[in-house]
Amino acid sequence: MITRRDALKSIALSTGALAVSVVSSNGQAPSATTKEVHKLPALGYDYDALEPFIDAETMKLHHDKHHAAYVAKLNQALEKEPSIAARSLEELIRDVNSVPDSVKNDIRNHGGGHYNHTLFWQSLRKKEGNAPTGDLAKAIDKNFGSFTAFEEQMHAAAMKVFGSGWTWLVAREKKLVIESTPNQDCPLSTGGLPLLGIDVWEHAYYLKYQNRRADYVKAVQQILNWDFVASRFAQLKA
Ligand code: MN
Repeated sequence: MITRRDALKSIALSTGALAVSVVSSNGQAPSATTKEVHKLPALGYDYDALEPFIDAETMKLHHDKHHAAYVAKLNQALEKEPSIAARSLEELIRDVNSVPDSVKNDIRNHGGGHYNHTLFWQSLRKKEGNAPTGDLAKAIDKNFGSFTAFEEQMHAAAMKVFGSGWTWLVAREKKLVIESTPNQDCPLSTGGLPLLGIDVWEHAYYLKYQNRRADYVKAVQQILNWDFVASRFAQLKA
């Protein structure tokens, strides 16, 4: 019999395994000479690759300025607390309540910002007829009724975020759920595994969409990289 505790443990373990291959935080051990423990990962495609859904100028600012700032501030926080500098990004976020109080907010905000944006870039791709397939498609149908129903619920949730935050597809306790978090909070911190997230901070869309968050969310939903999401989902099951 699988208890709730076992289910949580299994998600936590899978999350740990996933951390290494999917959202590699830095790719190298902390060095004594450089305090740059965490590095800004490459976007992985050109700034204009997601046009016209997301414009090149927004991508450039979002990655090179916003994401870079989260990484820099995370490194600054870890300089203040060398005792936790060797922890992986995933460990920091998952066990954010166990980090020293002096840097807890920094880890939550800037570590979360680094993790969330790394996931976000990987979750996007422009491709005709983008939709989940295979086991992931089946799981979405099972948990939400249909892919269309899932898309509607995800959109509605993203519209409900007050202020800055994220809307996520999360694997939690053997189910797929839609959740939203404020600021740079991450479902990892509450025992879930985010499969994909939509950034609904104004910096993610204001240049092109101004106040039209609904249009931006709809645009993102057309460029989700379902192969990437499926790879996260597959590792969870394995
Ligand atoms: Mn952002």
